[in-house]
Amino acid sequence: MRPHPELVEGRGRGAPAFAEAYEFKVGKRETPMTRDPRYDILFEPVPIGPVTARNRFYQVPHCDGMGYRRPKAEAASRAVKAEGGWAVICTQECEIHPSGDVTPAIEARLWDDKDIPALALMAEAVHTFGSLAAIELVHNGPSCANRYSREVPIGPSHQPAGAKWDPVQARAMDLADIRAYRQWHRAAARRAKTAGFDIVYVYAGHDLSLPMHFLQRRRNDRADDYGGSLENRARLLREVIEDTKEEVGETCAVAVRIAVDELMGDDGIASENEGRDVIEMLAELPDLWDVNVSDWDNDSLTSRFGPEGGQEPFTAFVKQVTSKPVVGVGRFTSPDTMVSQIKRGVLDMIGAARPSIADPFLPKKIEDGRLDDIRECIGCNICVSGDQVASPIRCTQNPTSGEEWRKGWHPEEIPAKGAGASVLVVGAGPAGLEAARALGQCGYEVHLAEAGEDLGGRVAREARLPGLAAWIRVRDYRVQQLDKMTNVQIYRDSRLTAEHVLEFGAKHVVIATGCTWRRDGVGRKNWQAVPGLDGAKVLTPDDILAGAVPEGPIVVYDDDHYYMGGVLAEKLRAEGRAVTVVTPAPSASAWTDNTLELGHIQKRLLEAGIVIAANKRLAALHGDRAELACVYTDAREEVPCASLVTVTARLPNDDLARSLNAMPEALKDAGIESVQAIGDALAPATIAAAVYAGHKYARLLGETPGDGVPFEREFPG
Ligand code: ADP
Ligand code: SF4
Repeated sequence: MRPHPELVEGRGRGAPAFAEAYEFKVGKRETPMTRDPRYDILFEPVPIGPVTARNRFYQVPHCDGMGYRRPKAEAASRAVKAEGGWAVICTQECEIHPSGDVTPAIEARLWDDKDIPALALMAEAVHTFGSLAAIELVHNGPSCANRYSREVPIGPSHQPAGAKWDPVQARAMDLADIRAYRQWHRAAARRAKTAGFDIVYVYAGHDLSLPMHFLQRRRNDRADDYGGSLENRARLLREVIEDTKEEVGETCAVAVRIAVDELMGDDGIASENEGRDVIEMLAELPDLWDVNVSDWDNDSLTSRFGPEGGQEPFTAFVKQVTSKPVVGVGRFTSPDTMVSQIKRGVLDMIGAARPSIADPFLPKKIEDGRLDDIRECIGCNICVSGDQVASPIRCTQNPTSGEEWRKGWHPEEIPAKGAGASVLVVGAGPAGLEAARALGQCGYEVHLAEAGEDLGGRVAREARLPGLAAWIRVRDYRVQQLDKMTNVQIYRDSRLTAEHVLEFGAKHVVIATGCTWRRDGVGRKNWQAVPGLDGAKVLTPDDILAGAVPEGPIVVYDDDHYYMGGVLAEKLRAEGRAVTVVTPAPSASAWTDNTLELGHIQKRLLEAGIVIAANKRLAALHGDRAELACVYTDAREEVPCASLVTVTARLPNDDLARSLNAMPEALKDAGIESVQAIGDALAPATIAAAVYAGHKYARLLGETPGDGVPFEREFPG
C-alpha cells in the first residue's frame, strides 16, 4: 500500500492534494442557491460532541466491497458524497483485530499501524469537501469465521460462529480476553484519530459485533459480571464507550450504532423492553446515537418489503430518552419526509446509506432547489449484492457508483464531447434511456426511438408487479432529465426497421431493444428444450406482463433465480390461483440471498399458500401434469399443471443490430459509422447492468478502445 505522501497526524489538508494525487476530478458547480425555505431546517449545523456537522445529512456506515483492498477507490467513492453535500461520511465496518476477520467480505481494516494510510486517504478526501469523516470500529466476535487470519473466533459464550453455515465455533471469552478486546478497541480508536477521523464509532448493531452479542440473552449465558442482568450484559458496551471517549474523546466525537429492535419479539432485543432500557441506561454517554433495527435484512429492507421511513415505529423513542443527537435510516429520498422526521422529533440527522449511493448529490440538489434532479434509490439492494459476493459496489440508479476512481466517472459530470454528431438510440428501456440521457449530457444530438407509447421498457412493465412500484424511478429520473435537454428528441410509437435506421442516417446507432423470455424451458439446468412445452398453456413473464391470465393450478418454473419467478408466483396467487414454484435451487428466488430478500420472499410465498418444490427441475409437460426430476437423484414425480410459467432464460432482441451490421456498405452509404447493441439486446442481465451499459456507451463513444484492462487497478504495496 502506498502511503499518502502528505500523511501526517491530524487533518485539514486541501483539495488539490487529493485531486492531484488520485487524478480524481474535483467538480466545481456554480449553481445559484434557490433552496425552498421549507428545507432550511435540513441545512442547520449539528454539534456532535467536540465536532460540528455542517448540516443534517449523514451517510451512515455502509459496505462497498472496496475497503482495505481498494483504498483509492474507497476514498474517491466517499469523496463524491462529501462533494455532494453529506455532512458526515462514514466508512464501512472496520475490523479492529485479526480475531474479528470477516473474510471473504472486503471491509475496512485497522489491525495495526500499517492500515492507517489506506484509511487516511478516505478521511482526507472527505475533509477536502468540508465534511466530517466517521469510522465504524467493529469486532465481529462470533459473527465471523476468521477465514483469513485462522484465529479462533471469540464470543460471550461458546457458540457457532461465522455466516453461511461455517462449520466453526467461537470460544467463550474469559476476563483476560475481555480486557484484551478493550485494548484492541482503544488502539483502533487511536489509529482512527491518527488517520484523521472526526467521529469514532462503537458498534452494537445488526447482530454483528461483540457489544451487541454480549447484550443478547440468547448469545450470552455468562454467570460473571458480563452476563445475567441487562446491566451486566450492557457492561461491555458501556466500558467500550468510556474507553473510546477517554482515548480520543477530546477531539473526536464518539458515536454508538445500536440495533434497538431485532424484530424477534421476546426472543431478541425489542424497542419495547431491552432496546429501550439500554438506551435509557447509557443515554448521555456517547456523543451521538445511530439507531436502527436488526439484522441487516431488516435494516436494509428492500422497497418490495417496506416503505420509506419504515423504521420509525421502532426507533422514534430514542430521542425521547436522550439529549444527544440521533441519526436513523429509512431509505429517505423525499425532502418533505426528512423535514417531517426532524420537525416531529423523530431524528436529528437524516441517515442514509442507499439514498447516498443512488445519488451522492442528494443534499446539494435539495440545497440548490433542484428536486427533480434527484436520482431516487429504488430500494432494490443491488448495491448490497456487490458486498455479498466480495466485489465492488454497483447501483441500479447510479452507474458511476464504484467507478469514481478506477474509471474516473463523476456522478454528475461527463466531459463535453460530440457536439453536432448525431446518435440514434433505438429502444427506451433502462439501457436506451440512460444512453440517451448521458449522450445528451455530453452534448450529442440524440434521437431516441421507442416502439411503444410508454417509455421505460421492462421497468415500466415490471414496476406494476407486487411491491416493485418504486422501480419506476429508473424511468422517471431519466425521462425528467431528457425532457430538459434541447438536444434530445424522443419518438414514441416508432418501431424501427433496418430501413428506417438507414434512412435516418445518424452518425452512430445504439440498439437497446431488450430481450425476450424463453418459452422452451432452457435455462441453467435444462440445456435442451423441455419436451411438451409447445402448447398454448405455456406462458412466459412477457405474457403475464402483457396481461395474460393463466388458469390454475399454475406451475412457475424458476430457473432464473432472481426476483421474477417469486414475484410472478405472488401475483398469480393474489389473483386466486393455486401456485407451485418449482426450482432446481434449494429455495425460490435463490439469488436474492445477495439482496437480503431471500428470507422475506420465502416467508411471503409460504404465508400466501404457495408451494415451493425445491431441488427439482422441470423434465416434461404431459397435458395437465408437469413432470419434475430431483436434481440429485433424478427421481421423478408429477404435479398438476393447468398452466406453466417458464422463468428460465432470455434471448436478446438483436435482429435489428445483426441485420444492420450485416450490411456494411449500406451503413457507409447512409453515413453511419457505428452500430452497437447494448444492455439486454446484447446479453440479458439486471436492470442495473442495462443502466450501466447505457452510461458506458455514452462515456466511451468516440474514444479509441485500448486493448488493455479498461480501468485502473490497485496493487498491494
Ligand atoms: P434494456 O433493459 O436493455 O433497456 P428493455 O427490454 O427494458 O431493455 O427495453 C427495450 C425497449 O426497446 C422496449 O421499450 C421496446 O419496446 C423497445 N424496442 C424494441 N425493439 C424496438 C425497435 N425495433 N424500435 C424501437 N424500439 C424498440
Ligand atoms: Fe438504491 Fe438499488 Fe442503488 Fe442500492 S442499488 S442504492 S437499493 S437503487
